[in-house]
Amino acid sequence: MRVVVTGGAGFVGSRVCEVLLGTGAEVVCLDNLLTGAPDNVGALRGHPAFRFEQCDVTEGFDSRAVRAALRPGVDLVLHLASPASPVDYLEHPIETLDAGSRGTRAALDLAGEHGARLVLASTSEVYGDPQVHPQTEEYWGNVSSVGPRSVYDESKRFGEALTAGYRRALGTDTGIVRIFNTYGPRMREHDGRVVPTFIRQALADEPLTVAGDGSQTRSLCYVDDLVEGLLAFARSGHPGPMNLGNPHELTVLQIAEDVIRATGSRSRIEYVERPVDDPGMRCPDITLARTELGWEPRVGWTDGLTRTVSWFRSRSQGAA
Ligand code: NAD
Ligand code: UDP
Repeated sequence: MRVVVTGGAGFVGSRVCEVLLGTGAEVVCLDNLLTGAPDNVGALRGHPAFRFEQCDVTEGFDSRAVRAALRPGVDLVLHLASPASPVDYLEHPIETLDAGSRGTRAALDLAGEHGARLVLASTSEVYGDPQVHPQTEEYWGNVSSVGPRSVYDESKRFGEALTAGYRRALGTDTGIVRIFNTYGPRMREHDGRVVPTFIRQALADEPLTVAGDGSQTRSLCYVDDLVEGLLAFARSGHPGPMNLGNPHELTVLQIAEDVIRATGSRSRIEYVERPVDDPGMRCPDITLARTELGWEPRVGWTDGLTRTVSWFRSRSQGAA
């Protein structure tokens, strides 16, 4: 099995590469390092079945080094390349639109050329600020096409449409997963997402910046669970779209309080302005994944948070 992982040097992608190598697969990791880091795959560099090439997927796969890496064949393309944190995609709006559109098209063409399956890492953001709760795959969403978040939401929605179109028009073997909020080791402490931000603030005994009154909800999935679901989906041949996430729903204020407890911090809570178009609630209905893949998350929030805090602690001690 030869697998191309675009965005493989990111938070989720690097874990995907690691788990795939553990199953005996050969992995070609393609990443332009826009929001990822070479360190994330540093431990894999010497592995005989692992190859990293710096590559911007929006420009295709024509460089000599990338062509050489792909020449022995491709069985599966996992297309994860895209900024994913609101802070990142607001800083890189055009790159985000390009990753979902031109990048997805290039990844689909690559899969088509090799007769490979392509799995698109889509997102719960396609549901926008949802009016159906929990969100099922049948829900079409409530998304602003021009608001600040639209660069991410609409690029993923376009990526889904393109993927479905390639399947219908060209018979490409495709699948779409909608990933809900995922957390764990290797998130960047300044990526702006709620879990790494709160952990960084708590470990420094700084105030935790809760947006609005903190009553908005998110449902947080530990990265190992998510990757297990993603790879089970890839193996299944299912076209999707399929939700992957942990249905355990928490308010943002609860997340802040739990992080303070898990770190033993003296931090207090500071209420800050809510971002524009910040979804009010989010929770996956994972009936489809349970039924089709026999998959569900196994790592509870308390356990996953403890593991993530330990990782952040070990990093800050390493840096000290
Ligand atoms: P991340 O920012 O850590 O990883 C994304 C990776 O893609 C980075 O390594 C980045 O350098 C790379 N990349 C971006 N543009 C690229 C381009 N044009 N060419 C090549 N590489 C490029 O984010 P993540 O959390 O690991 O997310 C991975 C994927 O999963 C994304 O597609 C994201 O939309 C999706 N997703 C993640 C979550 C989550 O909670 N983590 C939720 C929903 C969807
Ligand atoms: N959030 C917060 N403080 C922060 C970062 C995020 O209160 O420092 C909130 C944010 O407004 C949102 C939730 O936490 O309501 C999840 O935000 P995140 O950026 O992690 O993910 P997304 O909004 O993409 O679900």
